[in-house]
Amino acid sequence: MDQYIKEKVALLTPVTIARRRDFHQHPEPGWTEFRTASIALSKVKELGYTITMGKDAVAPSAMMGVPSPDQLKKEQSRAIAQGGVEALIRQMEGGLTGFWADMDFGLPGPKLAIRVDMDSNDGHESQDEKHRPVREGFVSVNEGAMHTCGHDAHTAIGMAVAEIVAGMKDRLKGSIRLIFQPAEEGLRGAAPMVAAGVVKDVDAILGLHIGFQADKAGKIVCGSKGFLASTKWDVRFKGESAHAGAAPQEGKNALLAACAATLNLHAISRHGDGVTRINVGKLVGGAGRNVVPPDALLVMETRGVTSDLNDYMVKEAGRIVKAAAEMWDCEYSITVMGGTKSGQSSPEMIDRAIAAAKKVPFYTQIEGLKEFGAGEDFAHMMSEVQRQGGIGTYVQLGVNRTASHHNSAFDFDEEGLSPALAFVAHMVGDYLKID
Ligand SMILES: [Zn+2]
Repeated sequence: MDQYIKEKVALLTPVTIARRRDFHQHPEPGWTEFRTASIALSKVKELGYTITMGKDAVAPSAMMGVPSPDQLKKEQSRAIAQGGVEALIRQMEGGLTGFWADMDFGLPGPKLAIRVDMDSNDGHESQDEKHRPVREGFVSVNEGAMHTCGHDAHTAIGMAVAEIVAGMKDRLKGSIRLIFQPAEEGLRGAAPMVAAGVVKDVDAILGLHIGFQADKAGKIVCGSKGFLASTKWDVRFKGESAHAGAAPQEGKNALLAACAATLNLHAISRHGDGVTRINVGKLVGGAGRNVVPPDALLVMETRGVTSDLNDYMVKEAGRIVKAAAEMWDCEYSITVMGGTKSGQSSPEMIDRAIAAAKKVPFYTQIEGLKEFGAGEDFAHMMSEVQRQGGIGTYVQLGVNRTASHHNSAFDFDEEGLSPALAFVAHMVGDYLKID
């Protein structure tokens, strides 16, 4: 391992663990990462990075699944009360918590981007005494929010990488962009950052996640394929209420429209080119026993192993929703609540990740391309970089875990953090080194 990286990582490991625990204790779900983002932003700014934030970093028109203005205001006040940086939080009005940090090394060379995510999950963290965050005093203090995917670690890793790389700048060419993404859960945060230009001119992009398929210490998965593209919709049907006994003929039954849609959505023909999915996960509607139901809400998602296959599902779903509404003489509206693209790591970037992993003694089980089989918002950024002719990969960094991701008792062994820092530092050092 490079001597500078080795020493710097050793120095930054305790502070990375402390930051991770601090973020863990103050989890913030998608678009409310005011405290987390403001703390990370002020740190990287202090290190000499140029910051892009607010509307310049997150296109408001492309934001999906945003909490209500009232909710956002409440979360802003909470974040300030919990020690977030007030002046920065004020600039994140409306949930604009995403930002990126650039450093140019002054010599011509490629632009390497690294994405970390910041949001927590919804839910109640385990209060069991056996759960280490309880035992050691960093369990969630934010009701209804918990860090059970490891994004607390990712933000802390991003901050430490910023510091390691800043210290290497005399040895590097080109430039680096550190992307701090909000709202990864629900696949809502990448698209508005891409729309704001986060990967414009990026030549290579690295996304990282602790755990998942790298489910124990020593393991690292250097590439992924088969990210499922996905689209999330809230569909509202609007009919007309009427007395169900005296004048049912005057009503327009929105619940029946939603039911017809549900059955037929699940009957969309499978596609010969590959895996697709559809799920209506929630259906609510109506007003009361003797009233023709005037409204219904249908909460659904589609998936496809390629973006084309997901597009096929979305197109068919749209046709069925429209036809079901027409059949029952109702109106309808569709709100896109989230979604991401499919993707596959670039072979060249996987090779680079494998080479960097080999320099970190902790990683004894190094794997190449693996089937991911779920959605990850990073695919949106990576596929855009590849479309522009660049390369990218998504790397899973091994840690021992106490439970699976999104389980309320999720925690991981922090011994995996320092190798993660060393790995990312080597990726940067190797890709941007002066020849
Ligand atoms: Zn995650």
